[in-house]
Amino acid sequence: MAYLMLTGGRVVNSSGCVDADVLVRDGKVEAIGELAGLPIADAERVDCTGRLLLPGGVDVHTHLDSPMMDTTTSDDFASGTRAAACGGTTTLVDFAMQAPGDTLLESLEAHQRKARGKAVIDYGFHMCVTDLYDGATEEFAEIVQSGVSSFKVFMAYRGTLMLHDGDLFEVLRKSSAVGGQVCVHAENGDVIDRLAADLFAAGRTGPSSHEISRPPSTEIEAVQRAIQIARMADSPLYFVHLSTEGAIEAVAEARAKDWAVAGETCTHYLTLDRSLYDTPGFESAKVVLTPPLRTQEHREALWRGLRAGTLGVVSSDHCPFCLEEKRRLGQHDFRAIPNGGPGVEHRFIVMYAEGVRRGRISLEKFVDLTATAPARQFGMFPTKGAIAHGADADIVVLDPDSWTTISAKTQNQRMDYTPYEGWKLPGAIEKVYARGELVARNGKYIGTEGRGRFLERSSL
Ligand SMILES: [Zn+2]
Repeated sequence: MAYLMLTGGRVVNSSGCVDADVLVRDGKVEAIGELAGLPIADAERVDCTGRLLLPGGVDVHTHLDSPMMDTTTSDDFASGTRAAACGGTTTLVDFAMQAPGDTLLESLEAHQRKARGKAVIDYGFHMCVTDLYDGATEEFAEIVQSGVSSFKVFMAYRGTLMLHDGDLFEVLRKSSAVGGQVCVHAENGDVIDRLAADLFAAGRTGPSSHEISRPPSTEIEAVQRAIQIARMADSPLYFVHLSTEGAIEAVAEARAKDWAVAGETCTHYLTLDRSLYDTPGFESAKVVLTPPLRTQEHREALWRGLRAGTLGVVSSDHCPFCLEEKRRLGQHDFRAIPNGGPGVEHRFIVMYAEGVRRGRISLEKFVDLTATAPARQFGMFPTKGAIAHGADADIVVLDPDSWTTISAKTQNQRMDYTPYEGWKLPGAIEKVYARGELVARNGKYIGTEGRGRFLERSSL
């Protein structure tokens, strides 16, 4: 591959900004600085004057082509990664579900097959453990050595996904022994199931009951319990999709004691709130997500948690189900509505607009939350997550003076809605480079098909 030179832009990393040219060779960043005068005859020069050059987004929480609640997520690895690329995300870590009756290694291989040759950006996996059969933990070492260096467990959804506390303890203990880390979905599933059954029995069968059945305490209690169980197991811990002030307080308290506890929140908890459940009819099924959206007080606490460093990562929890599919399954029983919504395409621009442009976080912090910190947390840094010498040339060219309007009609996600419908946001993603290849321009995918590579992530 020849040289590529992005000239005249402002290069932003989590450590600072610099006005500089970026030279790319064979998919890697070769140099950063005043390079425009260099006599490289065959360099393709791209004028980036007035533009921000940002590290490609790293989204560590997606569910592509994934079986869930009697259906499958609507984006597969082709459509989901194309949408990601168009939205400025060039790396993702997806959840490989354990299939009932299959071993972890068999399940992982099945998920690998879904991605191979289809994904257009680089990807890794977390291995979900939903049934700790005899011998399951003996596969942990091989899984971690294969580059899948994290596991996921659920403290909710009894009967399908949930592990009881003893098994959670065992997964923590055995994974940390082989250098793996554990991502926890922290909600008290048993209390939720009881509350949900009561609501249904009382005739409150519509989607708005989803929120009422999962009050903040169901998350906070599970976070506190998981922290203590991780202490017993002497294991680090990572919380996915935290949504409440109390959960952040629990994580902050643990971190103040120097315990290895980390957490993420998601775009929607930072930018949407529970008032969407008041939409009449079945509309509010669009935001039947788990955990549910919270009040504005929680939302502000999440932004504070990001600024304070208590929460280090913002992910999308892209878990798309079309509204029609939600209706088909859960029209008469909110408990059967598949939990999840789309987000991989819009995380980057929504966080830029709502975070940076509204003055909630700095540009550097934005880069950290959306790229650098997730890459570090999950063993992909410095190959991913920075514009630096030797790193993969995953670069987003963003025009801060232009605008983005989000709509289901124009999105690349294979979805019939987006929770950000009609949002007009400052800033526009003009170009997206992945390993030096121009893969997206103005919201359209123009890269090679199936170009994504499996990322072997390093262990703890
Ligand atoms: Zn999820």
